[in-house]
Amino acid sequence: MVYTRRLLTKETFHHETVQNIKNKKGMNMKKYIVYDNCKIGYIKNVCTCEKCKERGMAEVFINDLDDKYLDCIKGNNIENIVYLGDSLVEAFDELVNYFQEKIKTKEKENKYLQELVNFYSKLKT
Ligand SMILES: [Zn+2]
Repeated sequence: MVYTRRLLTKETFHHETVQNIKNKKGMNMKKYIVYDNCKIGYIKNVCTCEKCKERGMAEVFINDLDDKYLDCIKGNNIENIVYLGDSLVEAFDELVNYFQEKIKTKEKENKYLQELVNFYSKLKT
């Protein structure tokens, strides 16, 4: 299952990570994570300590593609995740979409700011 920014909730994130533990014995099924700052990693490990059980939300450890520690997600800070799924190609697509949307938003902002500039410039004269 693939999750993009729009589909990813705390619940689906948690569900995905639990699935990841269950699948571990099986085939090499990496779950990739892409952040909105372009960082890419995969789910390395999921903490199953008592504190995490109490919280009902496990800490999820993310390594980068060179297998070095990248991040620890505590279940509530998923706002900066753009993609969670098993395809790097899809991950890149999603990142491209995300930045294109951002460009559109900024273009609208710029247009609005330009209108303000025009408006107040006229008032001056
Ligand atoms: Zn823990």
